[in-house]
Amino acid sequence: MGIMRNGIGPTVLLRADMDALPVEETTGLPYASKDFSTDQDGNSLPVMHACGHDVHVTCLLGAGELMATGREHWAGTLVLVFQPAEETGDGANGMVDDLKSVVGAVDVAMAQHVLPAPAGLVGTRVGPVLSAADSMRITVFGRGAHGSMPQASVDPVVLAAMIVVRLQTVVSRETRPGEPVVVTVGSIKAGTKSNVIPDHAVIELNVRTYSEQTRISTLAAIRRIVKAECEASDSPKSAEFEMFDRSPITENDPAVTKRVAEAFADYFGDRSRPLPMQTASEDFSDIPRAFGVPYTYWGIGGIDPETYTQAENAGRVAQDIPVNHSANFAPVIQPTIDTGTETLVVAALAWLGKTTEKSV
Ligand SMILES: [Zn+2]
Ligand SMILES: [Zn+2]
Repeated sequence: MGIMRNGIGPTVLLRADMDALPVEETTGLPYASKDFSTDQDGNSLPVMHACGHDVHVTCLLGAGELMATGREHWAGTLVLVFQPAEETGDGANGMVDDLKSVVGAVDVAMAQHVLPAPAGLVGTRVGPVLSAADSMRITVFGRGAHGSMPQASVDPVVLAAMIVVRLQTVVSRETRPGEPVVVTVGSIKAGTKSNVIPDHAVIELNVRTYSEQTRISTLAAIRRIVKAECEASDSPKSAEFEMFDRSPITENDPAVTKRVAEAFADYFGDRSRPLPMQTASEDFSDIPRAFGVPYTYWGIGGIDPETYTQAENAGRVAQDIPVNHSANFAPVIQPTIDTGTETLVVAALAWLGKTTEKSV
């Protein structure tokens, strides 16, 4: 992190995430990643900036340089935060205690993400912008037996299957139509052999929600259904629940977002647009939450505008434009970097800029 103190004024925190993903890059670019790292089991894993966090780091460094060379145009304190481990959802929380002890207090926090949209565009949104993500590992217990003697068993395979089917009703029967909620069972494991009834089954699922209330009620509904199905099966032991890979909701503060959107409209003109709600998740909001301050999070485009327009005209955006986390995700260097640097400076100056000055 870097702290730039420049006289009396508000404190603005800008955050860029730095981490990469275990994806083997296939962009064919001259600067494509050739790096590999090793996981805890000693397996070699490819490393790629498949989410575009290298763009975020570059833009924040550029914004820091611009602010440093233009000190006469602003007053206050600028905090530049380079955050590790966004993809695992624990990087922001992992550094908030240190941040608070070094920085003390901040007035507002901001971050951005490069998206599969035309480069040069910026998008803001008031209210929920990214979903909360929760993963749950559920272990249900049965009683193992010979496959030919089911009367001696409590079959966890049938129990797990019933749970998976019944979980489909959380969205379809318990959620208000129009409220976006996703419940996906991504993994179900039980047993080793066709004629052995195992004694437990493990279900892993992922939940996406856009309000804290819906998040709580959805997770509660899942637990209720699991417990009830275990009872229906006469399961000998209570189910075990383990939460992991959790990201909070990113919900942009209306006043902060309006101030940034107005500054963007002033500077970028019609390149500043409304941002649609995104289904991805982020841990950035853990930082402002720890400071108890409002925040906003915006998107910048990273796709060559001509390529994007061609795909749009052919009705093939989803098929032809590589999205974040794909092995082909390759934000064009310009105008992406200039735009992402300018957004940070313009947004910071909306708090720190000396009045009557608009140019940066
Ligand atoms: Zn990502
Ligand atoms: Zn990302």
